Amino acid sequence: MRRRPFRPSKDKRLTDTTWASLGLAASLCTTLERLGFVTPSPIQARAIGPQLEGRDLLGLAQTGSGKTAAFLLPILDALAASAGRAEPMTARALVLVPTRELAVQIEEQARRFAGKLRIKTQLVLGGMSRGAQIRALGRGVDILIATPGRLTDLVRAGHVRLDATALLVLDEADRLLDMGFAPQVKELAGRLHRRRRTALFSATMPREVTALAEGLLNDPVRVEVAPPGRTVERIDQSVEFVARDAKRARLAALLSAPEVSRAIVFTRTKHRADRVAEHLGKDGVPAGAIHGNKSQGARQRVLDAFRQGQLRVLVASDIVARGIDVEGISHVVQFELPDEPEAYVHRIGRTGRNGAAGTAVALCAPEEQDKLRAIEKLTGLRFGGEGSRHHASAPKGRGGAPKPAPPTDTKQQAKFQRKPQGAAAVDDRQGEAA
Ligand code: AMP
Repeated sequence: MRRRPFRPSKDKRLTDTTWASLGLAASLCTTLERLGFVTPSPIQARAIGPQLEGRDLLGLAQTGSGKTAAFLLPILDALAASAGRAEPMTARALVLVPTRELAVQIEEQARRFAGKLRIKTQLVLGGMSRGAQIRALGRGVDILIATPGRLTDLVRAGHVRLDATALLVLDEADRLLDMGFAPQVKELAGRLHRRRRTALFSATMPREVTALAEGLLNDPVRVEVAPPGRTVERIDQSVEFVARDAKRARLAALLSAPEVSRAIVFTRTKHRADRVAEHLGKDGVPAGAIHGNKSQGARQRVLDAFRQGQLRVLVASDIVARGIDVEGISHVVQFELPDEPEAYVHRIGRTGRNGAAGTAVALCAPEEQDKLRAIEKLTGLRFGGEGSRHHASAPKGRGGAPKPAPPTDTKQQAKFQRKPQGAAAVDDRQGEAA
């Protein structure tokens, strides 16, 4: 992977907030220090304190903001502070997520942050053996991370009770609803402890999410770090106008450029993701496809190969790619523009993480012009100018142009510092993907 030097400068420093000043237990602060997490990210700085005080939370934040730690650390703090153990067939905390990949990532982070604390985490996901999940639930679980479908099945079949679960997180609530999980989410929430603490995170706030939040949260603290619809800074965004038939060749050419160290290609459908990956292979660019029709094992294998750098190009459909946290993605290519303009923002957010720069290119066929206009309307960007590649610009002072994002959050979102791990690490690598 190509490394970009990170030059810390005073103006890029976040806040003077420290982990300890947020009120986190000393053992968690030590673990964070050991992991190289120097300062809390903005969402963490603002969301952790209220949760530690027992408040419900409504968080508007995307993957990459550090939102996972923003809800896991208060859970770990609460679990560490209470002497109790999980009773058989119960869970002390529940994190509901839309996709299996996201669940796996959250569990990995929970185990890392738990450090030496004796915390039992468990995944409950469709597409994996029920038997192992049922046995683990039988022994009692501290943090249960689940997709709603399988968990509802197991609860209804009596393999786990949720009446002792007093901590609930809904992560990527907008996507949970998009995927039709509203009935299961409501049913599961209704089975939890009467006096639970709930945190709901969502990248966008459509009406349905607001309604869900109103039903589940009690006088929540609202924390917002990236205004929905605003694309992330530091990403060089452009659109290329290409006929549909010419996209295959253009994509292979784009991905063959030496500066493409790790790229995600988005397609609109699962079927197309397979086709594009296959074509790329034939065109001399080995690529793996990941989408909802693949088995969990196959998805995880491709993702691991991509994360470890054995595979340079991943072709993905939106639902699966959403929430995937892979460091060092230099390029995002949208082979097709998405049906929903919000997806454009989520797609490009896979690059430009943790202070790195990123490049996002969208291939737009003549018949996709309407979709491009919807994206321009949502983001306030304009893709115009000379040549076949049109770079994004944000018009200033014109009617309808976006107001600049609040000075703090969008800028800071990707810039929280991360100290490199290991003795050989040098200071100017701060902020790089570890
Ligand atoms: P998330 O938005 O939760 O998916 O987090 C994105 C990435 O940032 C993950 O790889 C985290 O391990 C990392 N991360 C989260 N919080 C911090 C922090 N305060 N300092 C450094 N890295 C962090």
